[in-house]
Amino acid sequence: MIQVVDEAKQEAVREACALLRAGEIVALPTETVYGLAADALNPDAVAKIFAAKERPSFDPLIVHIRSLGDLQQVALVPEAIAETVSQLAAAFWPGPLTLILPKHPDIPDLVTSGLPTVAVRQSAHPVFRAVQKAFGRPIAAPSANRFGRISPTSATAVLKELGGRIPLVIDAGACGEGLESTILSIEPRPHKKPIFRIHRAGPITKEQLQEFGKVEKMKEAPENQPCAPGQLPSHYAPMTPLILLENPADFHPEPGKKYGLLSYRGDDDGPYVALHDWEQVEALSPGSGKLAEAATRLFFVMRLLDEAGLDAIIAEPLSETGLGVAIMDRLRRASARP
Ligand code: AMP
Ligand code: MG
Repeated sequence: MIQVVDEAKQEAVREACALLRAGEIVALPTETVYGLAADALNPDAVAKIFAAKERPSFDPLIVHIRSLGDLQQVALVPEAIAETVSQLAAAFWPGPLTLILPKHPDIPDLVTSGLPTVAVRQSAHPVFRAVQKAFGRPIAAPSANRFGRISPTSATAVLKELGGRIPLVIDAGACGEGLESTILSIEPRPHKKPIFRIHRAGPITKEQLQEFGKVEKMKEAPENQPCAPGQLPSHYAPMTPLILLENPADFHPEPGKKYGLLSYRGDDDGPYVALHDWEQVEALSPGSGKLAEAATRLFFVMRLLDEAGLDAIIAEPLSETGLGVAIMDRLRRASARP
């Protein structure tokens, strides 16, 4: 396949790579959301990610590698799960699946928040891959937003979150997936498929993973365990209060207050659109209701409503199958107040 890379993109890639080499941070597009990238092996560079995001040091970062061949630079894959890791990588990499594996000693503790494990994935975005190919080292990249806020799915959103704090954002348009990667840990079992635990629901669904292992519910983390914000009840939150309204009958608007509706399809006959004289209605997948489109647009639509000067955003629930699980996970966390 011949890929035509235009001049501007090559220039941007060179600049990003030079900044990474100098121990700086840069915002790069990935297929999930925009990421804030730094050299994963340089703790001073990684510290700048935490500073720019105001991210607490107990929240570990995802490390991005160029290919499965680079995995041994960042993780020590136990023999008992080596085949499963190869199968998952063959099926889903490059792509939005992050694996939690025992960490390589070269990975700074700051990256993993002192955990003995590291979260690893390979991004499919052509710009991210071009930067990584030129840079040649593993890249730590969490979402390019301030801590706890809505993840950015466009360069404009990155600038709103981190403008003035970072030297470069590469703009490659809207992110294709729109939701953060699925995060998975693997527990081997003798003579049986391994057990998978989904730490964060994402674009790779439970149904897709079942072929390779037995997907089980996450065990509740003990209270004193470092808990990552991707797993905190309140995360991905707009500034405007967001209420996930599981039952339309539970809506009791206060007089004089402005409410906006975050709807799935936005159809006028639906029980949510007809419920109230909304100040604004935004649909995740207008008309037809496609989960993939809803996922791609979720954070964009949340931002639109957040900027509309409303008193509250009311979100309509989606059915929790396939990608609906990850979308509902984000809506629940966005609606939880810290
Ligand atoms: P972000 O890249 O901003 O989407 O956040 C990365 C998320 O990955 C964190 O918030 C954690 O939920 C998760 N994570 C990273 N490393 C680990 C790890 N070693 N164990 C469990 N979860 C992790
Ligand atoms: Mg994040």
